Amino acid sequence: MNRKIWKQFTPFYFYTLLASGLGVAAMISETRSLTSILFLCLTGVLTWGLIEYWLHRLVFHFDAQGEKGRKFVYAMHLSHHANPKTMDDLFARLRLSLPLALCYCSLAWALMRSWQATVYLFIGLTAGYFSYEFLHYQAHHRAPSLRLFRYLKKYHLLHHHQTSALRFGVTSPVFDYLFGTFNQSHPNRTVR
Ligand SMILES: [Zn+2]
Ligand SMILES: [Zn+2]
Repeated sequence: MNRKIWKQFTPFYFYTLLASGLGVAAMISETRSLTSILFLCLTGVLTWGLIEYWLHRLVFHFDAQGEKGRKFVYAMHLSHHANPKTMDDLFARLRLSLPLALCYCSLAWALMRSWQATVYLFIGLTAGYFSYEFLHYQAHHRAPSLRLFRYLKKYHLLHHHQTSALRFGVTSPVFDYLFGTFNQSHPNRTVR
């Protein structure tokens, strides 16, 4: 693996260190039940699903009218649709994810008024985000053996190759189902 590819993994090192460091600090600084911690982490995972869905649907596929807007949308996501096999645009850069993470944590802190609860939500969010990156990588670069992963791969490739106005979820079709962009019909043809 060359240096450029290793550099693409920067967000993974960064968020793993940050989330685990903050998690340890939160656990040391208060006594909270395991159920409460798990509930907050799970809420973080679910909110990731919402963010993933709406970012993809509203921002990445935004029908920009101006030249600058079109360039922005292309750089953010449509370049990936144009070249789905390249690794260059596969993982989100820190300059995109970090402002989102900061907004999320600020909002979580404003609602919860507890930095420890915010940290547990952030850990769940990070887990959801990593699952997204893993499943997205797998959809384009691997032939998964697990049935669920095969389903998600096909689901995402149909978004690429059949209609980009449907199937925005990568980690699950749940939010497509809830927000009306789920399409049950899977054609028999193989999508690669
Ligand atoms: Zn893709
Ligand atoms: Zn897309």
